[in-house]
Order: sequence, then structure tokens, then C-alpha cells
Amino acid sequence: MSAGPPIDELHLADAPHLETSIPGPESDRLIERQKRIESNAVAYPRSVPIALDAAKGSTVRDVDGNIFLDFFAGIGVLNVGHSNPYVLEGVHEQTEKITHTIDFPTETRLDFIEALDGIAPGGLKGNNKVVFGGPSGSDAIEGSIKLAKHNTGRTGLLAFEGAYHGSTGGALSLTAGKKYKKGYEPLLPGVVHAPYPSTDEECAHALDHIQTVLEDPYSGKENPAGIWVEPIQGEGGVVVPPQEFLPGLRDLADDNDVMLIFDEIQSGFGRSGKWFASEWSGVTPDAMTMAKGIGGAGLPLGAVMYHEKFDTWGPGGHIGTFRGNVPAMRGGIRAIEYIEEHDLLAHARDLGTYLRDRLAEATDPATTEVRGEGLFIGVEMWDEDGNPLSDTVKAIQKYCYEHGVLVWSAGRYGNVLRLLPALVMTKAQAEAGMDIITAGIEAHT
Ligand code: PMP
Repeated sequence: MSAGPPIDELHLADAPHLETSIPGPESDRLIERQKRIESNAVAYPRSVPIALDAAKGSTVRDVDGNIFLDFFAGIGVLNVGHSNPYVLEGVHEQTEKITHTIDFPTETRLDFIEALDGIAPGGLKGNNKVVFGGPSGSDAIEGSIKLAKHNTGRTGLLAFEGAYHGSTGGALSLTAGKKYKKGYEPLLPGVVHAPYPSTDEECAHALDHIQTVLEDPYSGKENPAGIWVEPIQGEGGVVVPPQEFLPGLRDLADDNDVMLIFDEIQSGFGRSGKWFASEWSGVTPDAMTMAKGIGGAGLPLGAVMYHEKFDTWGPGGHIGTFRGNVPAMRGGIRAIEYIEEHDLLAHARDLGTYLRDRLAEATDPATTEVRGEGLFIGVEMWDEDGNPLSDTVKAIQKYCYEHGVLVWSAGRYGNVLRLLPALVMTKAQAEAGMDIITAGIEAHT
């Protein structure tokens, strides 16, 4: 095998392995130190109180020597695992050579754009252009907003309830979570949020609603420049829409000369068991945003890929000092090669089925829904009266880290257990992790 070691050689040995209770004394010390000197905006260690020392593959070691099985992979970033040696080798070669090039051409930059074309979905393959601005998902969304405005001459934006698209002004306007917006409005004007469906009935209703927004002469607003949609909603709770939803949006966008933009920042780069989640529906978007995993080694990188017919803007249409992080691009090329050589899309689909089956066995379908595609997995929980069980999800998350497994949450009410393991997680690790996660679920439901 030329592209690095097999997946079972990528991890720290013996995970999970606990040396102390969690948090251990060193984690406590670093979390306290962080509190003294870093912003109150710091969020993650409030939910999982550990300080990190090292990580490999699907395993993470904290500063007390505890080793965790990692079921959130840097929140959906480390799709080829932490410190994948094949990816790091490419990154190191690149950092030795040249790291920052603004947007001057380098072999690496052009090879990366071509590698993205190699995995581009549907009608974007061979017909696309790629733009880099700042190295984050939010910035890719900003770029896509400018692209849609520039191409349509319109300024309104249509997004969905439950959506998360980022934290900068334009992206935050599309994000639906009120908690992220509180105190920061007004943001961009002319943004409409339509319902995001999870059932066939909701789908028909959502598409009708959008048709009214777009086609009723008295719907209240000029038509938007674009429709932004996550093909599988992430922060909203790993919601997989009905099969007709994305084709329906495609038709409405076409009929009304509105751009259709898929936000693949969380769902893309193999996460769902396809390169991009749009492939589950066969719908090609006009543009798609990418970030999170595309830097391979967890190096920051964001991009928008769009159909070349929309390449109408001039130099500086979307810009940023860090428009393209060349070591991250080398990491991205290596990650694509690693995923292809080790057949990790098929592995993600198989392992995802195994994880969902185990979760379904451990839960009551009357009060739980297990959903997702590939290794993009959510378990929504509510009580017998239909109230969301957010405290239960928090308690399960705590049970898991106390037993050496890292999981995350999602959902409008925080009542969805979210699993985003690396595509390199082995079956044995998945089994060991599931024994703990399902025990946590059983202990708290
Ligand atoms: N879109 C989606 C679907 C996301 O999940 C995220 C991050 N969770 C973003 C956009 C924003 O990306 P970033 O945090 O890199 O700005």
C-alpha cells in the first residue's frame, strides 16, 4: 500500500484507558489557567473538562495520561484521524519548502484544486471553479453570499430553521440559532428562514412554503440571491431530509433563477460515506462550501466550489490574506489519497450502519430517533410527553467521558447525541466505544 499505514496502525494503543477520574488534576490545572487568561467565550471544555496532550487516529490523550476513544474528531474535522502519518509527511514536506503564498500559484495549490475536482459531485465535476478567502467555514459562507449576490444582482438570502452556517456577519445571518445572534442583530437584511423537513409531510409543506416565498407576487420580499442549505443538517441535530427535498429545492431554484448553495462544511469530505452528502440525493448544487476536514491534518482551510458559469466576478471578488493555506492544501491532497487508497468511504458507510444498529438496539423508538448517513450520526431523545431530553444527553456525554469516550451533542434543544468519528476508526474501536455509549444511554433513560 503506497498511501500510508492501514487504519488499525494509526491509533494510540489500549484506548480507552483511564489513569485518573475525569477531570484529572493536570486537566483541572490547565482549565483553571485557561479561565484566568483566555476569553470567557471559550466553550468546549465546559462540556468535556479535559486538557489535551496528544492524539493519534481515533484516540486522544489528555494531560493526565487518560486515553479516550474519540467520537467527535475535532468536531468533524479530523476525517483521516489525528496526526495521520501519511498526511503529516506531506504537510512537513510543504512547510519545509514554502508555507504562505497568498494566491500565487504553487504546484501544491493547483494539485489541490485538481484533487477537489476529482471528488466533485455530479455536474460540478470538470465544470467548476474554486475560490479561497479566509481559512474557515464561516468565511467560505461569506464568499458564497458574495458570489450569489454578484451573479443575481439580488441581496436577499433564504436559509432554514435549524441551520448553522457560521459566526461571521453574513454567515451568522443565515445561522438560525437565536443564542448565537442574541445581542448582535441587525445582521444582513432580507434573510428568510424556511422550515427544514424531516418527514414527507413536512417536506411537502416546506417546498410549498418556499414556492410561495419565491413565486407569490405578494409574498412580502424581493426574491433572494440564493438558497443555502445543509444537505444533512449538522448542529440542527443531524437531520436527514426526505429524498424529495433537495430535488424540490433544485427545481424551485432553477424555475426562479435563484442560486442553490449546499453547505458541505460538516457533511462533506467523506463524513456521510460519500465524498459529499449531496450525492445521496443526486442533486448538483450551483455552489458548495467546504472547510473542516479539507485541510487533512486539521489545518485550517475553507473554500467555495461553484459551477464555472458563475465565475463572473473580477480579481478580489472574494479575498483574504490567508486565501489558501498551502500546507493545509498538501494535507488535503494526502487526505484524499488516503481515503481513496484505504476505501474509507465504504468503511464509513459500513461502520455507520454498525453504530446506528447498536444505537437502535439500545434505545426505545417511542422516545428516540437514531439517524444519519455514514459517520454523521445523531440520536434524538425526548420524554414520553415529547419534551426534549437535553439534560439526559448532557448526562450521557458525561458518563461517556468519565468512561473514556468523547461524544458531542447537537439539536435545537441540545437533545441530540452527535457522533462524528474519524473515517479511520476501526471496527474494534467502534465496538468498544459502543459498549460504553450504549451503557451510558441505558444508565440514563
Ligand atoms: N457550516 C456548517 C454546516 C458548520 O457545521 C460549520 C461549523 N460547525 C460552519 C458552517 C462554520 O464553520 P467554521 O466554524 O469553520 O467557521
